[in-house]
Amino acid sequence: MTPEEFRKFGHQLIDWIADYRTRVAQLPVMARTAPGQIKAQLPARAPEHPEPFENILRDLERIVVPGLSHWQHPSFFGYFPSNALLASVLGDYASTGLGVLGISWQTSPALTEVEEVVTDWVRQMTGLSGAWSGVIQDTASTSTLLALICARERSTNYGLGRGGLQEEAQPLVVYTSASSNSSVDKDALLAGFGRDNVRVVGHDEEYAMRPDALEESIRRDLAAGLRPCAVVATIGSTATTALDPLEPLARIAHHYGIWLHVDAAMAGSAMILPECRWMWQGIEGADSLIINAHKWLGAAFDCSLYYVRDPQHLVRVMSTNPSYLQSAADQQVKNLRDWGIPLGRRFRALKLWFLIREQGVAGLQARLRRDLANAQWLAGEVRASEGWRILAPVPLQTLCLRYEPPGLEGEALDRHTLAWADGVNRSGDAYLTPAMLDGRWMVRVSIGAAPTEREHVEALWKLVRREAERRPAE
Ligand SMILES: *Cc1c(COP(=O)(O)O)cnc(C)c1O
Repeated sequence: MTPEEFRKFGHQLIDWIADYRTRVAQLPVMARTAPGQIKAQLPARAPEHPEPFENILRDLERIVVPGLSHWQHPSFFGYFPSNALLASVLGDYASTGLGVLGISWQTSPALTEVEEVVTDWVRQMTGLSGAWSGVIQDTASTSTLLALICARERSTNYGLGRGGLQEEAQPLVVYTSASSNSSVDKDALLAGFGRDNVRVVGHDEEYAMRPDALEESIRRDLAAGLRPCAVVATIGSTATTALDPLEPLARIAHHYGIWLHVDAAMAGSAMILPECRWMWQGIEGADSLIINAHKWLGAAFDCSLYYVRDPQHLVRVMSTNPSYLQSAADQQVKNLRDWGIPLGRRFRALKLWFLIREQGVAGLQARLRRDLANAQWLAGEVRASEGWRILAPVPLQTLCLRYEPPGLEGEALDRHTLAWADGVNRSGDAYLTPAMLDGRWMVRVSIGAAPTEREHVEALWKLVRREAERRPAE
């Protein structure tokens, strides 16, 4: 493809995306695709000869779109929002179009320096002190893996330079709560801690980690000759947006010399609102934290911000310095390959830079406040409706609901809950995700897709009531 052809097809593709965003509200939110249905429409082998670009665009529309669930739909209430605001989409194109790599500062100085500036903007926007340094990773899963590796290396005094974990006399232990994201468990296993050394600390009635239970668990492990290493707290847990109490957790972590990592992947965006910052009171006592700019904030996936208080420690753990990567500037600049796992790094900062500049902090704040108000409105409706319950506090934009008509309990209640949620999803008019809470199914309503206005939340509530209340219990 020549630059001139690129210009032509690029314009077509941008038009197509603009049309998609305009008409997405008319599409069924959840894909109604049967397993294998998309593969069956695609040739099993790569084309031997070049195809006209028109054919590729045609198949994008004809084959791919019908096989999608639409995350940018105004009635997407599943999981957590993964907004891709159009300004950030253009930032992503700019990054891809430039096709540059940040292996070291020298390989594309602006890539590193824009990333430094934009992560520092977000630091200030969320009210974090100047003691934090940020870097962009792909996902929260990767950021938590880094945190746990850094914790491990602090506890072992850089054991990776000797025999690694295999040489440690005392097993290291990680503490988290049952509400933490599944990635925490996976990361602890991948960082080498082992299933036997991951503790699930008890929570209170609001699903927040109990500091007394944490301390008890630590003491028990110390008495058994183990070495407490890291605690992973969550601000805005995935099931219920629970808030672990950072102040007491940080006190305990400091007292026992344990790394405190804070997973604020979802709720971190809310910290651009001063009125929400009570939720992570005590954050300055943590060693590392994550904010996923690719969720509610609106940077197109993937863009996870990882902040640390001791960047020299991170660099010491992650650095490699072969001769062909050294340059005369190394003493004065950051080489971001030493701030994470991959050697290569694309220019992810551009999509965040475009987003923040195009929206302004005030624009981002106004949208998040809209979503918080919509969540409170829906919570009020649910509380006032007979037979309906809200099962967890609603500090943010996610509600956990259940319809519990008299006489419906236990597994019959579970069947009914799953049936009405499925009815909502199959209608194509909205998308919700059910989840387990205390051993029973409930339904999460996660508000915050960028185009979601009050009218969409009102329509959802009507639909949910119709599906749940008119459906006979099985
Ligand atoms: C979404 C989420 C994650 C996982 O995020 P990825 O970026 O997809 O890895 C982890 N923790 C919390 C609290 C989340 O909400």
